[in-house]
Amino acid sequence: MASAKYIFVTGGVTSSLGKGIIAASLGNLLQARGYRVTIQKFDPYINIDPGTLNPYEHGECYVTEDGAETDLDLGHYERFLNIQTSQANNVTTGRIYNNVITKERRGDYLGKTVQVIPHITDEIKHNVYRLGETGNYDIVITEIGGCVGDIESLPFIEAVRQAKFEVGESNCIVVHLTLVPYLKAAKELKTKPTQHSVKQLLEAGIQPDILVCRAEKSIPNDIRKKLALFCNVQLNSVIEALDAETIYDVPLHMRKEKLDERVLTKLRLPHKEQPNIDDWREFLGRLKNPTNEVTIGLVGKYVELPDAYKSIAEAFIHAGAHLECKVNIQWISSETINAKSARRSLSDLDGVLVAPGFGERGIEGKIETIKYVRENNIPFFGICLGMQCAVVEFARNVLNLEGAASTELNKETQHPVIDLMEDQKSIEDYGGTMRLGAYDCKLAKGSKAYSAYGKAKIQERHRHRYEFNNNYLKDFENAGMKAVGLNPDSGLVEIVEIPEHPYFVGTQFHPELKSTVMNPHPIFVSFISAVVKNQRK
Ligand code: GLN
Repeated sequence: MASAKYIFVTGGVTSSLGKGIIAASLGNLLQARGYRVTIQKFDPYINIDPGTLNPYEHGECYVTEDGAETDLDLGHYERFLNIQTSQANNVTTGRIYNNVITKERRGDYLGKTVQVIPHITDEIKHNVYRLGETGNYDIVITEIGGCVGDIESLPFIEAVRQAKFEVGESNCIVVHLTLVPYLKAAKELKTKPTQHSVKQLLEAGIQPDILVCRAEKSIPNDIRKKLALFCNVQLNSVIEALDAETIYDVPLHMRKEKLDERVLTKLRLPHKEQPNIDDWREFLGRLKNPTNEVTIGLVGKYVELPDAYKSIAEAFIHAGAHLECKVNIQWISSETINAKSARRSLSDLDGVLVAPGFGERGIEGKIETIKYVRENNIPFFGICLGMQCAVVEFARNVLNLEGAASTELNKETQHPVIDLMEDQKSIEDYGGTMRLGAYDCKLAKGSKAYSAYGKAKIQERHRHRYEFNNNYLKDFENAGMKAVGLNPDSGLVEIVEIPEHPYFVGTQFHPELKSTVMNPHPIFVSFISAVVKNQRK
């Protein structure tokens, strides 16, 4: 018997149907029944990881505890399941080929011709079973990125077929997500696209076990019957997934449709107790019945695509629900802010977050934003590049260090208050070479960060090359900007605060990556509470 049971989630008809949310919701329900669950994502593109992708292309790059740069769906998995994922949870075509080619060069294939089948598919399966074989999980969910029928995803679909055959019917199932569009003119829900995408799966040798059908309108019984008949699935395995008010409703929708029960029956696993989703319901209750409302300006350069800041937006939802406060985000392009426009754009906001980012574009707007909120006592939270800009702004306007900058933006600056770490100076490759993943941080008693976390030793995730330049630390502290979080091993500055300000906190790390529904992040919670308090003044 296999050590773990496997669920594959495939998608058809179109992309953007929300496979990640369905996979995370299913994982959530199975976990709530007492099963140990993990989720992984296979991405059919050729990049080794999404670390080098432009956020406009693919949304945010999510960083795991072990420093893997991964797809943003892993963020959903962590937020829904309150688990930690790792490099093993995100595998791309690029990584698969890289592994196979490395083995080939090493001579591991003993003179054989290296081919898609069996070598690439074996490597894919190896990565599927890897998590299952740790013994840490009862169920491994694998989301296959892209749509069936894409040239790129063919080897993955073939590997799914082989895996299903290898581990056997009751140890492995395929959940296929499709779209059942509503044609207004005909006033009808149409099943044909689903039929076609299931046919494509069948051509690849895979009979889906369960269909999850995205639809704008409720799918009546006769349409469900039609889908069941044409797609060869049982009637109660046709699951409806209607548009949800919030992604956090989806586990409850799936529960209502009994997706978890169908999955357990197919995998011949005991249904155990009913899923314990009381805490989840309570979270939704607080999310939907806020007693306060605040508006936060999110100043960044990728604001046209809010997916670029997915984890930040979700962290606001978690913290807001915790405080029964609706957090509206006003997306502000940093390029539109200058000394003249700052008041107009920012004065009505209850708080401002300056976002992470790379490169020069939009930097001066971020610095102007920070000057305005610092001088006007608007609560401020800066993350990574946002924190670095706060340091530059303080250097220029409080310490009067003319032309102070980060060397990312001006290599020649006389005052490199943010500078490249020594060990970064010789690195030429872009991929996977930043300071990545979790590092320790020690908090100073009496700081806002310390009271947010309620403890001194924390660990947070990183993704950056540049650092606070400690040669300037004394000057900053004397002038009122304190380093209240330090890496205990390297002395690198992790958090800066201005204690005199109602709320002015900058973190070199990315706290948003650790916020989950069940564990809203302490800094986001403390920021929103400060914003609410400040609003009442
Ligand atoms: N570009 C900055 C650095 O590399 C900040 C990175 C970020 O905001 N994640 O240090």
